[in-house]
Amino acid sequence: MKPSLTRLREAVLEANLELVRRGLVLYTFGNASGIAKDEGLVVIKPSGVPYEKMKPQHLVISDLSGRIVEGELRPSSDLPTHLVLYRAFPEIGGVVHTHSEYATAWAQARREIPCFGTTHADYFHGSVPVTEPMSEHEICGEYEKNTGEVIVRLFRDRSAAAVPGVLVANHGPFTWGADVSAAAHNAVVLEAIARMAFFTITINAEADAIGKPLHDRHYLRKHGSRAYYGQAVEYK
Ligand SMILES: [Zn+2]
Repeated sequence: MKPSLTRLREAVLEANLELVRRGLVLYTFGNASGIAKDEGLVVIKPSGVPYEKMKPQHLVISDLSGRIVEGELRPSSDLPTHLVLYRAFPEIGGVVHTHSEYATAWAQARREIPCFGTTHADYFHGSVPVTEPMSEHEICGEYEKNTGEVIVRLFRDRSAAAVPGVLVANHGPFTWGADVSAAAHNAVVLEAIARMAFFTITINAEADAIGKPLHDRHYLRKHGSRAYYGQAVEYK
């Protein structure tokens, strides 16, 4: 095992286990990865290994072209999607994919999640977008890589830092963050946002998205150059 990646292996394992603890994955669904940017290496969950048996040494290390550098087991079959996202969004340090129930329901309905309230606004600057459906050509070709490409196309006019997740049409959510732990945190929050948005439109089908002033106030107090949310300011 490369000593420099020991901590990353542990963080990636921990993020995968967090998805289980939070009820985001069934059986072996879902995957989390993290990148060691200096080395250009990605640590990802192995394919099909039960979470309760997963150890740091089971994780698979790939370079950004998909060449396996370390690991006896096959990587998650979604590795090519993760790699496309790392190559396109150099600011991210971790990627998570789940089929969490409410976020996947929105993905299957092919509806973006409007920002109905401040919980959403704290994390996503704008709606949680949904990709275009993939073409037969994309599905029959390099499907997992093309899943990444369809996400990247959607983010041509969006910031991956300001919108840390997406719904892949008829599939489910991908989230990312500064590191793998943040990516898992965003996956948990996205599921909560999706659930609350479902209840919101169930109670009132005509519910409006939050206004821009409240959305910006909440997003910008936690993010950006003038952020003030958190202990550094509030803890006495
Ligand atoms: Zn999937």
